[in-house]
Amino acid sequence: MKDLLSQKMGKACTLEEAISSMADLFLKKEDPLQRKLVARPSVKTQVAKRDVAQCTFITSNGKRCTSRRWLHVHHKTLRAFGGANTLENLTTLCSNHHRYLHNRAEAEGEDHLRPRLTFIEPSRELEPS
Ligand SMILES: [Zn+2]
Ligand SMILES: [Zn+2]
Repeated sequence: MKDLLSQKMGKACTLEEAISSMADLFLKKEDPLQRKLVARPSVKTQVAKRDVAQCTFITSNGKRCTSRRWLHVHHKTLRAFGGANTLENLTTLCSNHHRYLHNRAEAEGEDHLRPRLTFIEPSRELEPS
């Protein structure tokens, strides 16, 4: 391994150099802080397209929020609960409803909250009314 690294670096290296260079490689690959913590732009674009860049929150009178401003991408299953950056797990919310849901999630706990969340499902949303 030491010889391999020496070859790669184009010069002889000490054991310390070999170890620190391996540590660098390992950190680049495995350090979660180095990973992207936000959804990839392509997924965000798909979410925006599906939700027609409008908040998907359904208010108590059964109407979809009409806000198209201050839109956020929200994880239906929160990242803290293992929610992924997938199209299914992401939804568009205006900043007001986003804050509202997170406040409620914090106050009551995610398990408590989830059954009462109502979002427009992709298939429903595209049907003509
Ligand atoms: Zn959120
Ligand atoms: Zn809204």
